[in-house]
Amino acid sequence: MTDIKSLNEAQLSEALKSLGEPAFRSKQIYQWLHQKGVSSFDEMTNLSKELREKLKEEYFIPCCNIEEKYVSKLDGTVKYLFKLFDGEYIESVVMKYKYGYTICISSQVGCKMGCRFCASTLNGCKRNLLSAEMESQVHSAQNDLGIRISHIVLMGIGEPLDNYENVINFLKTVNNENGLNISLRDITLSTCGIVPKIYELMKEELPITLTLSLHAPNDKIRSEMMPINNKWSVDEVIKALDEYEKHTSRRVSFEYTLINGVNDSEENARELAKKLKGINCHVNLIPVNNVKENDYIVSNEYNIKKFQYILKSLKINATIRRTLGKDINASCGQLRRKKQES
Ligand code: SAH
Repeated sequence: MTDIKSLNEAQLSEALKSLGEPAFRSKQIYQWLHQKGVSSFDEMTNLSKELREKLKEEYFIPCCNIEEKYVSKLDGTVKYLFKLFDGEYIESVVMKYKYGYTICISSQVGCKMGCRFCASTLNGCKRNLLSAEMESQVHSAQNDLGIRISHIVLMGIGEPLDNYENVINFLKTVNNENGLNISLRDITLSTCGIVPKIYELMKEELPITLTLSLHAPNDKIRSEMMPINNKWSVDEVIKALDEYEKHTSRRVSFEYTLINGVNDSEENARELAKKLKGINCHVNLIPVNNVKENDYIVSNEYNIKKFQYILKSLKINATIRRTLGKDINASCGQLRRKKQES
C-alpha cells in the first residue's frame, strides 16, 4: 500500500494517469487530501464509487485519530494525543494568539537526541513521521475545532532535521495553494542543532523561521544538557545560525530553557550576549517544565527577569515565553509517555 497523501502534485497526477484517469481528477483528489483533509476515500463524494474502490486497493491515507483531547480552562489551549495507523502515539498542541491559531506539531515518534531535560526522548525514536502525518495533525485539529490554523511550529516530539526529507516535503505541501496554503513565513522549525542539515536547509531557500535550542552559552554546560553538543560545539552551531540569517535574511531565534543553578546565572547571561553579538536574532527564554524523570528545577522568577534584563542591556532581544495550557500538561512528550506507561 502506498501513502497517497505524501505524494506531491506531479506524483499524484502520474499515479492517476496510470489508472487511466483524466488530469482534473488528480486536482480534485489533491484538494480532498490537502485542503479539506479527509481521512477516507469514501468522503471524496465527487469521485465515482468505482474509482474510490480502485484507489483503496492501492493507496491509504495516513491519519491522526484523536485518542485523547484536553482543553485548558485557563487559556483555551488544546492538547491532542493522536493515534497513528500503526498504533503509535504523537502529540500536538493548538494555541490561540492575537494573530490567529498556532499548532505545535510532532515530527517523529519519539526522539533520539537524548536532551536531558526533555520528556520526548526518554524511550528513543520509534520512527520518522511521514509528511502526511505531520500535515494530518493540522487537518485533524482544524476539522475538530472548526477553525483555520495560520501558523505552525515544529516544536513537538522529535527532531525535525533528523527527518529531513519528509519535513521538506511537508513544508512544501502545507504551503501549496491547493492545500492548506499556509505561508512559509508563518512556520517555525526548531532544531537541537544538526549543523550539516542547517546548511542544507539554508540552501532550500524557504522563508521559514529557524530557531535553535541553544540552552547554554558554552560547551561545558551544553554538553551536560544535550549530547548533540559533543558532535557540534556551541560556536559551530551559532556560526551556522549566523550564516543562515545572512544567507536568507530571515531573523533567527534561540531558545534558552532556564534551569535553576545550571544555566541561569548573571555570568551565563553575559557570556550568551557576547556569543550572539552581531547576529540578527531573538532569544526566547523558557522556564523549564518539570519532567519527573529528571531533577532539573525551574529558575525562580527573579532570576528569569534578571537574565532577560542583562541580555537586553547588552542589546540582545529577549522575551520570556508565556506558559500556555499549564493545567493540561501542554508541554510535549508527557502524554505519550503516560500512555506508554499505562
Ligand atoms: N528537537 C527540536 C524540537 C522539539 S523540542 C529541538 O530540539 O528544538 C522543542 C523545544 O522544547 C526545544 O527548545 C526544547 O529544548 C524544549 N524543551 C524540551 N523539554 C523541555 C522542558 N522540560 N522544559 C522546557 N522546554 C523544553
